[in-house]
Amino acid sequence: MQLAERSLGYDTRFGRGFISGVFAVALSALGLGGVLCLRFPSLLTTPDARALYPLDLVRFLIHLHLVAGFGLGVLSVLLSRRTLLGLSSVGLVVVAALLGGSQAPIGTLGGTRALGLDWFLLNVLVLAMLFVPLERVFARIPEQGIFRPGWLTDLAHFGVSHLLVQVTVLLTLVPAALFFRWAVHPGVQAAIASQPAPLQFLEIVVVADLSEYAVHRLFHAVPFLWRFHAVHHSSEAMDWLASSRIHLVDAVITRALAFVPLYVLGFSAGPVYAYLVFVSFHAIFVHANVRFRFGGLERLLGTPKFHHWHHATAPVDKNFAIHLPMIDRLFGTYWMPPEFPATYGIAGHPVPRRYAAQLVWPFTRRS
Ligand SMILES: [Zn+2]
Ligand SMILES: [Zn+2]
Repeated sequence: MQLAERSLGYDTRFGRGFISGVFAVALSALGLGGVLCLRFPSLLTTPDARALYPLDLVRFLIHLHLVAGFGLGVLSVLLSRRTLLGLSSVGLVVVAALLGGSQAPIGTLGGTRALGLDWFLLNVLVLAMLFVPLERVFARIPEQGIFRPGWLTDLAHFGVSHLLVQVTVLLTLVPAALFFRWAVHPGVQAAIASQPAPLQFLEIVVVADLSEYAVHRLFHAVPFLWRFHAVHHSSEAMDWLASSRIHLVDAVITRALAFVPLYVLGFSAGPVYAYLVFVSFHAIFVHANVRFRFGGLERLLGTPKFHHWHHATAPVDKNFAIHLPMIDRLFGTYWMPPEFPATYGIAGHPVPRRYAAQLVWPFTRRS
């Protein structure tokens, strides 16, 4: 007899109340998050984004999430003898309803200190809708479910980095303006900004990846920096969510340094924003649990297999670039066997598994 895999005490096979329960909790939590954003916009939403939200659509989506969360929660309780997930989701919907549900009045606006709960909700929604089905249909390791070991740790990384988006963006942009204003030349900047946008975009990809390569290699080579970057390499399962396991210090320093040449060269805002969208999707995609092969294109553009080898237990210190494998070929760090690596993570598993412990670990003696 085939033994059922279990999680939270649930039988995880289809039709046993686990999948409906997990979706119920996810949908109700997203719905409740939306209601909280309506009620406490000053505290929980990013000021720059507030004016851009189509409010009717937002309210409709919240409504949809709460109704679906409630329905699936009830279904989960009916299907399973366990009630943890089903009742939790119903509880979340009740709290959301008490706060006014999808028709909750908008709270007072003001102040600029805010957590990016809206940014977090938006990203969970879009990325999960994109990557969860992709990884189910084209899985490289089909046995590795959505809720593989370590997924909660990665979700915590994802949550905190999105909630703190305003602080991290500020810390990314300010050092360049503070320390590298001397390197700016108005004539050079004008010449660069006058080029066609698509050309600027391609130049940004090359420039940003070159500096990202250098900073990334530094994080591997300098022991004090490696402690922070080791957190990213501690993932033993690769998927879209594993991409967010990055220590805040690693994320801020890497982005701040990679941004310096873009600031000094003075690219126009449009191509820079286009690059930010591109890099956020590409950096997630290369971690995904997908078996795609790209033939000749693999030598040109960073693919999941290329970055998966960066995360391999052995050999180490290969494939530092994100977008352009050519940079690794240039500097002798390119590694691309025909197959995907067999194991991921750091030999000896030095990094603790829980989120809070990972945050503190680089600062401790034991690291
Ligand atoms: Zn690395
Ligand atoms: Zn990675």
